Amino acid sequence: MYIGSHVSIKHGYLHAAKATHALGGKAFQYFPKNPRSLMVKEFSHDDASACLTFCKEQQIKSVAHTPYPTKLIPDKREIEDRIIDSILNDLHIAEACGSVGIVVHFGTTKTIEIIEAYQKMIEMLNRVLAQWDGQAKLLIENNAGGTNMGITLEEMVQVRELTDDPSKIGFCFDTCHAFASGLWNGEDWIQVVEKGEELGYFEHLEVIHMNNSKYPFRSRKDRHANLTKGHISPEQIQMLIHSKALKNKLVILETPKDEGITHQDEISLLNKWSFGGQM
Ligand SMILES: [Zn+2]
Repeated sequence: MYIGSHVSIKHGYLHAAKATHALGGKAFQYFPKNPRSLMVKEFSHDDASACLTFCKEQQIKSVAHTPYPTKLIPDKREIEDRIIDSILNDLHIAEACGSVGIVVHFGTTKTIEIIEAYQKMIEMLNRVLAQWDGQAKLLIENNAGGTNMGITLEEMVQVRELTDDPSKIGFCFDTCHAFASGLWNGEDWIQVVEKGEELGYFEHLEVIHMNNSKYPFRSRKDRHANLTKGHISPEQIQMLIHSKALKNKLVILETPKDEGITHQDEISLLNKWSFGGQM
């Protein structure tokens, strides 16, 4: 596993990679640009390629996360082009930094009928894929389930397969979202893996967002907690860490940094747990 956390790019991409190294991390996630905007960024190619080189030397892996307004099922047609352009911009930055891909949340909607919503999401993905031939992949993340969409492994696999080029699509599994949505109850990881393998989910899994949950199982609430402070027990997290399904994947903490535990502490905790052996 490549363990690390979400880090800031305030001082650039190379600095983010170096900050990861200083934290004892072997992986990191970053927002390629302002996380609150879809504005296309003119990025420094020198900084990005210095990041790529440093990561190769240190054997650090990275992944980008699309800005919050990146909706795969937009409510208004007017913003579709802006979302597509923004996603392509994120892919270009990720590629230049040598990242495995960009994480994008499975779409949700409160206004469109469900079948139409899936069709819209596939159409949006196809528009991106038609303009992208790099190595960086689109990594679809499961939702906590505010709206019932993107909460099952079946949906992830189906949407991927229905696009024009599934080879450019992979997955990101968020443990807090999986627990909050009802996908994983903390105890049934072995069954989740069995089902995921049968469906062809795990072979395309690239990234795990390793977060505890501030709310109980099936609460449908997206509130990340520190590893030792939520409703998922340390034993249940260790069950995941030791699972073969996570072998060679990026494991990224998106946990609070202002509640008494630092990412450095949590990275060393995960490293300690991971030495407990394979199950
Ligand atoms: Zn996440």
